Amino acid sequence: MMQVSKRIAAARPLATTAMHERVDILRLQGESVIDFSIAISHFPAPASVRAAVAEALQQPLLPYTAVGGAPALRQQLAGKLREENGISAGAQHVIVTNGAKQALYQSLYVMTDPGDTVIVFRPHWPAYVATGQLLGLNIVLVDQPEVVDAAFLDRLPRAKVLIINNPHNPTGKVYTKSELDSIADWLRARRCHAIVDESYEKLIFEGVHHSLAACKDWEELGIVTIFSASQSYAMMGWRAGFASAPAVWVKAMEALQGPITAAVPALSQVAAEAAFAVGDVPELLADYRVRRDLVVDMFATQPWIKMPAPASGPYLWGDISGITRDTVGFAETLIEEFRVAIMPGEALGCPGFIRIGYIADDETTLRKGVQAIISLGKRMAES
Ligand code: PMP
Repeated sequence: MMQVSKRIAAARPLATTAMHERVDILRLQGESVIDFSIAISHFPAPASVRAAVAEALQQPLLPYTAVGGAPALRQQLAGKLREENGISAGAQHVIVTNGAKQALYQSLYVMTDPGDTVIVFRPHWPAYVATGQLLGLNIVLVDQPEVVDAAFLDRLPRAKVLIINNPHNPTGKVYTKSELDSIADWLRARRCHAIVDESYEKLIFEGVHHSLAACKDWEELGIVTIFSASQSYAMMGWRAGFASAPAVWVKAMEALQGPITAAVPALSQVAAEAAFAVGDVPELLADYRVRRDLVVDMFATQPWIKMPAPASGPYLWGDISGITRDTVGFAETLIEEFRVAIMPGEALGCPGFIRIGYIADDETTLRKGVQAIISLGKRMAES
């Protein structure tokens, strides 16, 4: 049999993308499937984005740009960082990437060496752990507390990097200014660096977004902040993201990105320019809020599931540990018997929980999918 390298032999496709692919294949076979496994928005990309890309297509040439992104785009994104995030960044602090995932891989690559310890809070986006494994890092999972304070931080092990997701997938937690101040103090004391994934910054229902890097010494502390148009602007397939990082790390990331993908496709850069100029997205948020409340209300009458309304984001996080801790099994029955896809908590480090991406469909389909989950949950609760 053909061998793969030792380096990649233990790696597996992300549980999230694998489930989504399974849905795609079932649909290709003519099956009708309701897909809550990841968050794919039913919203189109902003009109300004589509118009900018249509116009760019009329240009005769779409040349390579600089690896880290076209200079004008990097300058514009630095402006966004200063105005919206309070991060004192210039173009030299910005690298444009194929979504948050490439920014994450490249950040971890230039910040660590194999064997270094990286702290990730649980539940976690699967890509943090998968990326850490690809890079041979020692990933330490720590349960994310309701409130992050100095006492909690003091108990954390020594580490090279702390990864934070603010706002948080899947719980919707929005870190407060005072929590972020405590984290910055802890980074100063420990000489630990941080990666903050702010991909959901525009999807906040309750609370205010603050960036950890909105402090004078962010560059000295070594804080990388990651942004993506995927969720904030409903542009999952466009692969438009960027990172803000100390200039030395941006240079190192360019050296890594050059031979792999070179620059992000020119059309995606045009799209990124238009997207990150949009700012807030009140219409999208109002639509998501109605759906969030609809699902939370449907589950509120079910004693076997605990599902609070999240303060942000496109996911609902339900505790069904009262009926089972085998949520992989629960998800399997759900897709096999009811043709509804969800993400089992195991994929995010938490058996006994399920994650529902609730923004994909019309409301009738959403209700139908939730009703299927309720049917299975009730059946298990009564058996
Ligand atoms: N970060 C987190 C925590 C996410 O859940 C997602 C979307 N699944 C992203 C980033 C977006 O990643 P990308 O920009 O690569 O689409």
